[in-house]
Amino acid sequence: MAEQTVKKVVIAGGGTSGWCTAAALSHQLGSLVDITLIESEEIGTVGVGEATFPTILAFHKILGLDEREFLGVTRGSIKLGILFDNWARLGDRYIHSFGVIGKGTWLGDFHHLWLAAQAAGFGDEIGDYCFEHKAARERKFFTSPESRINYAYHFDATLYARYLRARSEAKGVKRVEGKIGKVVQHPESGFIEAVIMESGQRVEGDLFIDCTGFRGLLIEQTLMPATTTGRNGCATTARWRCRPTIHSTTSRRTRARLRTRPGGSGKFRCSTGRAPGTSTRAPIPTTKKPARC
Ligand SMILES: Cc1cc2nc3c(=O)[nH]c(=O)nc-3n(C[C@H](O)[C@H](O)[C@H](O)COP(=O)(O)OP(=O)(O)OC[C@H]3O[C@@H](n4cnc5c(N)ncnc54)[C@H](O)[C@@H]3O)c2cc1C
Repeated sequence: MAEQTVKKVVIAGGGTSGWCTAAALSHQLGSLVDITLIESEEIGTVGVGEATFPTILAFHKILGLDEREFLGVTRGSIKLGILFDNWARLGDRYIHSFGVIGKGTWLGDFHHLWLAAQAAGFGDEIGDYCFEHKAARERKFFTSPESRINYAYHFDATLYARYLRARSEAKGVKRVEGKIGKVVQHPESGFIEAVIMESGQRVEGDLFIDCTGFRGLLIEQTLMPATTTGRNGCATTARWRCRPTIHSTTSRRTRARLRTRPGGSGKFRCSTGRAPGTSTRAPIPTTKKPARC
């Protein structure tokens, strides 16, 4: 069976999700795909301070970002964990550090050993067994290319999107300014074929990625109005819907099931409640259930 090759990618939305997606695709795929990002200055972005987890280091490594430059441009700072004030009770403070606490043995994980030590009347505070925890408490930080310290960043989301936009455009991503007024679907399969801007411009694509934030313009408003009863908690992350190809590795039973679905090759919903790139892939439910993270 002939495979559908994605040549033209359209990213709807230019907030943190949109420009992260554009930066990753343009960096990884280069001229193999033609990428267009649509955003509206009139609508704007959420654009608040973005607190991140250490996984962002891996993302930046993929993009080949220079940490010093990134921190300067986005007015970012480094964090070794998250401090929760008044956590268990008023006056209580708890640091969820990004480091590993202690070292487990074949006897069990470290916290079991620590609890046993506490019961026996010795052992320090549990955070003392974590390098990042101690460093955070003492407000110390150092890193180098060889460092294995677990950390993350806090930065200005608007500046971050602007920074990734400059990098993406340098790699050939085209930006279309304006509001999407209409989404065009294939009359039989329901797949998105194009979006029409309020200006009348038609933007066609093989793969559409929904990064329109809380609006969920392509997924919730267009593709899933019947299966979604309202906004869910994962509304602001990137989601996409694509035409799947039935690969030869797909089992015969699954292939037969896909072919019997409307549109011939079957519909799949690809969505994520985490971050661009970490997706779960599941058939569209036939019963009308609310979407879940
Ligand atoms: C107070 C607050 C604090 C937060 N703190 C954190 C945090 O610490 N850490 C964290 O990870 N997240 C945090 N978040 C969430 C985070 O800010 C958002 O998840 C993220 O910035 C949203 O980015 P986005 O790209 O998905 O959406 P948005 O920033 O909303 O971008 C949507 C894009 O879609 C475009 N668009 C929408 N409709 C159309 C249309 N019809 N035509 C054309 N373009 C359109 C808009 O122009 C915009 O470019 C916080 C959110 C808030 C409100």
